[in-house]
Amino acid sequence: MEITSLFRENIRQLAPYSTARDEYDGELGIYLDANENPFDNGFNRYPDPHNKRIRAKISAMRGIPAERIFVGGNGSDEPIDLLFRVFCEPRQDEALSISPSYGMYRVAAATNDIRLVEAPLTEDFRLDTEAFLSRATHRTKLAFLCSPNNPSANLLDPAEVEKVIRGFDGIVVLDEAYIDFAEHEGFLPRLAEFPNLVVLQTLSKAWGMAGIRIGFAFAAPEIVAAMERIKYPYSVNIITERLVLQELERENLRREQIALLVEERRKLVAALEKIPLIRHVFPSDANFVLVRVDEPRRVYDNLISRGIIVRDRSRIAGCEGCLRLTVGTPDENVALIEALRYPDRPFDKSAAPAASGSRRATVTRKSRETDITATLDLDNASPSKISTGLGFFDHMLDQIVHHGGFSLELTARGDLHVDEHHTIEDTALVLGEAFRQALGDKRGIGRYGFALPMDESRALVLLDFGGRIATRWDVELKRERIGDVPTEMFEHFFDSFAQAARCNLHIAARGRNEHHLIEGVFKAFARALRMAVERKPLDFDLPSSKGLL
Ligand SMILES: *Cc1c(COP(=O)(O)O)cnc(C)c1O
Repeated sequence: MEITSLFRENIRQLAPYSTARDEYDGELGIYLDANENPFDNGFNRYPDPHNKRIRAKISAMRGIPAERIFVGGNGSDEPIDLLFRVFCEPRQDEALSISPSYGMYRVAAATNDIRLVEAPLTEDFRLDTEAFLSRATHRTKLAFLCSPNNPSANLLDPAEVEKVIRGFDGIVVLDEAYIDFAEHEGFLPRLAEFPNLVVLQTLSKAWGMAGIRIGFAFAAPEIVAAMERIKYPYSVNIITERLVLQELERENLRREQIALLVEERRKLVAALEKIPLIRHVFPSDANFVLVRVDEPRRVYDNLISRGIIVRDRSRIAGCEGCLRLTVGTPDENVALIEALRYPDRPFDKSAAPAASGSRRATVTRKSRETDITATLDLDNASPSKISTGLGFFDHMLDQIVHHGGFSLELTARGDLHVDEHHTIEDTALVLGEAFRQALGDKRGIGRYGFALPMDESRALVLLDFGGRIATRWDVELKRERIGDVPTEMFEHFFDSFAQAARCNLHIAARGRNEHHLIEGVFKAFARALRMAVERKPLDFDLPSSKGLL
């Protein structure tokens, strides 16, 4: 079969837009060809329209020649759309897909005014090859298979997939978005055997890059060339290119995460099978599990009320009563299991694990002397509400929140009628513990902070979240109290914080007005904290040469 004869007529004729960078693509030189701003800011130049570096990297990793790799600037949704545009004449041609499957095939077909015929999988989501192929007509140009399939989660039998590729007269698009979670290597190693096969893969799922939108189509060089001709010229921007190349270097980390998620999937399936509410757990080769329940909407709403969001697929043909559950972190999976196992148990929000990706913590401490709860969010500046019963202390904690850019809701009820000591000490312990928990594994943080604001008093704060605990305090205070706080408690506050947060903290300050001096200390402390916990979005390494903190 001559592949190009399947192209739409206009695509065969099409001369692509030629970019400035197409005409000359050497490395060195004075670029006066693309009307860019010449002053360097890291992204003033157009990106490489042909994604040579990404293709070279993927080529080396997957063992596929670069001319067989198309890079999609909007995940694999972009190649799906482009394939319709290359092969399907609007209002004439047809496409075929399994059902239930990924919704984007239908959307892309409709956008391109192409009829999509859906061939149902068997009840247990197996591919019925004969029934599938029997739906194809002479107008059917594309056939979509998805393996492991979304939403059913199972790998389609590779022998049956091969029969479809060999038996279909058009292009078979095999979506392998979840192949990294399956025990099968997929069809990429056999790509050269099948001129009519397009394999889609994405970095959005196993590779943890859903937010930066990048995906691939692997196919015969003629197909890749046709897609290149009609795509937007610079669909992968410079920031994305840089991040992708950087992330692809972390193959080992990614493999570890995939192994962990596969193990978590095993545990999740085993636990789900024992839950009375769940009628059936479908086998999974992906990072999600499809389950059938009696009242999907009720189960869904109950999970929502516990802050757990899953996908309701119950209205999709073939998925009646089904919810799709993504495999999360071990803590998240435990929370899901607990919520499904005990749907009627009252829900304790503060005991729920923080969502991964957020840096939030709620810490509660109850003793005979105090009762304190603090919710800290390192990446949001509001809301904040602080109440300890000590006006000046509240004011100092406000400094931390305000100048640190954190959100903190803290209520302390202490035995102030006895002394301020317990309330201040325990608040410091709770706050330090909240920082420790919110920082999690500390990946990507700055680790160090220092600040030296020059107000009317001078305060120097040095901070290191490296795990060692020490405080040095060099602040001269002559007054007995400032506001309602005994001055001796300030040193104790920072010492207790450092113990609980596990940090190194040096504070030195001089100034005549002691009210302003202490304010300066808290302000500098806040600035140093901000700096130390700040995450650089392009670098999620551990800030330690030892590889742990
Ligand atoms: C998530 C998903 C994709 C693609 O996602 P992109 O983020 O656009 O790369 C493709 N196919 C299936 C089946 C998916 O579930």
